[in-house]
Amino acid sequence: MNLLLMGLPGAGKGTQAEKISEKYKIPHISTGDMFRSAIKEGTELGIKAKSFMDQGALVPDEVTIGIVKERLSKDDCEKGFLLDGFPRTIAQAEALQTLLSELDQEIDHVLHVKVPEEKLVERLSGRRICPTCGRAYHVMYNPPEKEGICDRDGSALIQRDDDKPETVKNRLAINIEQSKPLLDFYDDKGYLVTLDGDQDIDKVFEDIQSVIEN
Ligand code: ADP
Ligand code: ADP
Repeated sequence: MNLLLMGLPGAGKGTQAEKISEKYKIPHISTGDMFRSAIKEGTELGIKAKSFMDQGALVPDEVTIGIVKERLSKDDCEKGFLLDGFPRTIAQAEALQTLLSELDQEIDHVLHVKVPEEKLVERLSGRRICPTCGRAYHVMYNPPEKEGICDRDGSALIQRDDDKPETVKNRLAINIEQSKPLLDFYDDKGYLVTLDGDQDIDKVFEDIQSVIEN
């Protein structure tokens, strides 16, 4: 099962991805998470990505496509994968089509989690993440059991640099602009399913399961 998750920053992709990956036993591949861990490890990729991410801009296609190609050719993707945050441009979408046909694979569904734009700033400003496992919490909508501490591994939660108010608006503007042609691209191919992301986390997940299972 090959799934793509699409939606603006803050729509809940990472939150749903964790649930999908656990239930359907497919790896969750997030380009944002891959870049963040490269930055943490100080690799060449991390150094390249950081300057773009700090401005809320997209990392160049060449770099991004390269890491996805490498990741999708790993053994754990043989039974399927869940891509989160990729593709974000038409060039990336076309590169993915080429790659999948080389691997003799196809996309099953493109799950578009839709949330009204005015709600996203609030979601992003209240987001806190675990620096160890990457899980996202929200100070109001999805708080951890113990304030500021990850339920899963006990790490102290942090705010992402790009979730600070200076970056959020730029990031949203860039992503709104880029996402429209991409949604049309997948709609034309008949893969696109739009889900109401402005509901409780569990309800959104129920809707996703019914798409996958029907
Ligand atoms: P969010 O969870 O807020 O949607 P991500 O974690 O997916 O954000 O991405 C964070 C940042 O990483 C983006 O603002 C961008 O700089 C970079 N990035 C992630 N995925 C891509 C991609 N497919 N193409 C280009 N840049 C990307
Ligand atoms: P994305 O990966 O699309 O950027 P996240 O999954 O990180 O989004 O979610 C963004 C923020 O919104 C997080 O703080 C998360 O806890 C919160 N969130 C996710 N889904 C919902 C929801 N359905 N209702 C309210 N808050 C949510």
